[in-house]
Amino acid sequence: MIDRSRRNFLKTSAGAAGLCLIGPSAAVQALTANVPEHPSGRLLPFPLASVRLAPGIFKEQEEINARYLDSLTADRLLHSFRLTAGISSSMTPYKGWEDPTCELRGHFAGGHFLSAVALASAGSGNTVLKARGDELVSGLAACQKKIGTRYLSAYPTELFEHLAQGKPVWAPFYTYHKIMAGLLDMHQLTGNTDALQIAEGMGQWAQEYFMGISADQRQRMLRTEYGGMNEVLVNLAAVTKKDRYIDAAHLFEQPGFLDPLAGRRDELQGLHANTHVPKIIGAARMYEVTGDRRYRDIAEYFLAEVLTARNYVIGNTSQDEHWKSPAGHLEGTLAWTNAECCVAYNLMKLQRHVFSWTADARWMDAYERALFNCRLGTQNAQGLKQYFFPLAAGYWRAYNSPEESFWCCTGTGAEEFAKFADTIYFRRGSDLYVNQFIASTLDWKDEGLAVEQVTQFPREQDTTLKIKSSRPALRTIHVRIPTWTTEDAQVKINGGPLEAIADPGSYLGLRKVWKDGDTITVSLPMELRQEPLPGDGSVVAALYGPLVLAADLGAVPPDEAYRIIHSGDTVPKNLPAASPLPKVAVTSDADVKQWIQVESQSELRFTVTGESAKSQLMPMYQIADQRYSVYWQMESLKKQS
Ligand SMILES: [Zn+2]
Repeated sequence: MIDRSRRNFLKTSAGAAGLCLIGPSAAVQALTANVPEHPSGRLLPFPLASVRLAPGIFKEQEEINARYLDSLTADRLLHSFRLTAGISSSMTPYKGWEDPTCELRGHFAGGHFLSAVALASAGSGNTVLKARGDELVSGLAACQKKIGTRYLSAYPTELFEHLAQGKPVWAPFYTYHKIMAGLLDMHQLTGNTDALQIAEGMGQWAQEYFMGISADQRQRMLRTEYGGMNEVLVNLAAVTKKDRYIDAAHLFEQPGFLDPLAGRRDELQGLHANTHVPKIIGAARMYEVTGDRRYRDIAEYFLAEVLTARNYVIGNTSQDEHWKSPAGHLEGTLAWTNAECCVAYNLMKLQRHVFSWTADARWMDAYERALFNCRLGTQNAQGLKQYFFPLAAGYWRAYNSPEESFWCCTGTGAEEFAKFADTIYFRRGSDLYVNQFIASTLDWKDEGLAVEQVTQFPREQDTTLKIKSSRPALRTIHVRIPTWTTEDAQVKINGGPLEAIADPGSYLGLRKVWKDGDTITVSLPMELRQEPLPGDGSVVAALYGPLVLAADLGAVPPDEAYRIIHSGDTVPKNLPAASPLPKVAVTSDADVKQWIQVESQSELRFTVTGESAKSQLMPMYQIADQRYSVYWQMESLKKQS
């Protein structure tokens, strides 16, 4: 047997001629340890236009999302913007959170929608959606020009006055952020220069407005959700090279929230999750642009804390949109209203930033967990998205209506399903990092290198990277060896197996002169395992590799109102009570293989063999029209002697 320990690994030379293994690229460390930034600098994502999804589960979902976006028209999206600017519109407005009476109107119409079509344009070359985005930008430019103060939104500045005066108002800066971000995405991803000009005007208006308010009053106003105002202003500073927007971003900081995190204290209980994750993304961007280490410490501590002490097995957090319990205590929190989907979207954005600082595989393991379990599967065949992700037993998935909801999660979902290609590969210098196992192609023009990733992962446990190179070149290709794989993981170069491999939970660095036609085949065996709910070891979820398994509990109630929510509400009306968790009777030291069997590795089908249940199990992402449970109540049996 080959000893695959890291110590031995580092001493072992590979069998393939000319190959030098330099991994693990990042040591496995305690989850909250400070990992120094790599001396060669940060990793960078590839431009979206360099990566294309190949046929497979992600490509299919990308196309469904694009068809939904294509069903929305620019004139209807612009309706409330035009009325606010004093431009007539006779179009039928969209409803829900885009209704002309809703205080969040414009957040999707001029924000998420713009980001999503910009991502679709860059990520899949969708020219129809690019044109829709350009049409919308031109309509928004006309509105901003008519208003004449550089302000732009689908609601009047009166809502900001309500905020300043402490009157009830939803979240005007939250929506303002979405619109600025959509415009910046149209500029950065599609090259629309008008979009940058509009965004800059909005940034100047926000800065001047907020500067005119006392520091105390600003802090009171910041108690109301403001999305990623700090992030978008840092991004604007990075694009325009103007420090004034860094100053503006600092106005949107709350010492009361950031200081405990800088001191590594979890004071998150009681806070609204999706109000606060974007503030940390803003802190991450502030570190990247200014180099101020305090912001990095805040981001790393926050992310590690949420992913360990406050995370459900699917890779997302929150109950009733909040962190309601002390750290490490999720017992009693399983409900319909778990894990708001846009929180996962924002946590994944944060994971990309933190990963780029250290190349630490744990962040890409977490990204994969969320991607396969609480992003994939949250869109139905019509392109409609989930809001909550129920984790109490016996519930099911519910989606927004096509034109009457427009939740935050409709918007973040529309973006997510247009950018599956953005994290598969990263680069540093001439090094390539393969982070995710998704059928795709990479065209790295500057290096004369293309990579075709051929896989049906997770239905197969292998992935093959085919190298196409205009010239032989010495470089290191780093491949993530996930935490969930086994000691039987294997890597082959041009069909020849390597004698050693990096530990699960790290990157394997493969350094050699790569030439056209070379192949890397990675075999990542999956196995069953179980994870307890934080705070209650008797409640567990089962996983197979990165996949959370769900029990099929039968058909969803027939009333369509339980599945599609035709309003801005986020929970179906008259929900029945949750079912008790399904029970499994096992010995107290039970291994998961004692109560689950793999029926089909290729079809990803499993059965429960415990005494009190005979359920069929499948990956959570494949649950579409069934009631389900991802958690089980373990009932201990006395050990047989
Ligand atoms: Zn949401």
